Amino acid sequence: MPRYAVTAATGQLGRLVVESLLDGGVPAGEVVAVVRTPGKAAVLAERGVEVRFGDYTVADSLPAALADVHVVLLISGSEVGQRFTQHRAVVEAARRAGVGRIVYTSLLRADTTELALAPEHKATEELIRGSGLRFTFLRNGWYTENYTAQLGQYLAHGVIVGATHNAPVAAATRADYAAAAAAVMTGEGHENAVYELGGTPFTMTELAAAVTDATGTPVSYRDVPAAELIEILQAAGLDPGTAQFVAGLDIATARGDLDTASGDLPRLIGRPSTLLVDAVRAAVTAAAG
Ligand code: NDP
Repeated sequence: MPRYAVTAATGQLGRLVVESLLDGGVPAGEVVAVVRTPGKAAVLAERGVEVRFGDYTVADSLPAALADVHVVLLISGSEVGQRFTQHRAVVEAARRAGVGRIVYTSLLRADTTELALAPEHKATEELIRGSGLRFTFLRNGWYTENYTAQLGQYLAHGVIVGATHNAPVAAATRADYAAAAAAVMTGEGHENAVYELGGTPFTMTELAAAVTDATGTPVSYRDVPAAELIEILQAAGLDPGTAQFVAGLDIATARGDLDTASGDLPRLIGRPSTLLVDAVRAAVTAAAG
């Protein structure tokens, strides 16, 4: 009987959670991949995982997707502004299907942070708390990949421009967050627990140094006022709203919103989180093909 369901299982995080579950010894027959695009799930099906259709915007698809599931990981949706409604459909379906526990990928200090992305996470957490379902909240920090995905730009310009005031970011790799998700899905003692997850903090100067070290190409960090960053981003082609949003993330970083010293991530995964230098080296190797 299926026991563990992962929503958005064709996404980058979802795939890694499924892999972590299987690598951790969960039989493939006990893993359900809930996906909105079954055509993208062939790799999952080949691993023996049961693939079920489940779209957050098609509420009727969700109760069947979660039938016989003991623990579901709800990976937050990717359409900002639509997410609370989408998450509500999954929570309601989990309740109707009699799911034993819902694990939700939230955001660092979702209940108190001023990050612009927080309100939908905070509202979802409140909804889950009020649903009567047992829950675990994984308040994920930033992905290291948010930075390593920009490697090409860093190298092309020789500079990382930001308005973080060089404040630390406790980013971690998706693989580390996925390992934590698999651990709380399968482990004991996580009922109604809230975890603040982040890796070893680094500054943008340290990021630049890691890129320099891994590539041999000098890259430095240049800190600018947020207003100047918005102008730079717009000159690079971003529309005013997106430029404002991106600069807002740096302002939040400067406030410390993306940092945590909770230690929850290494505790859950039973090892230190992946170091920035190793993540950057892996990205350089992957880019070299
Ligand atoms: P991806 O963009 O790789 O994957 C998003 C997944 O969500 C895809 O599988 C997509 O399905 C699925 N999805 C989107 N809309 C729906 C829907 N209506 N119904 C069902 N599934 C849907 O994101 P990641 O895996 O990297 O990240 C997971 C989540 O983490 C994001 O959705 C976002 O909430 C959050 N996030 C966190 C960041 C951080 O730094 N901590 C950064 C960015 C996002 P399909 O494959 O069919 O497209």
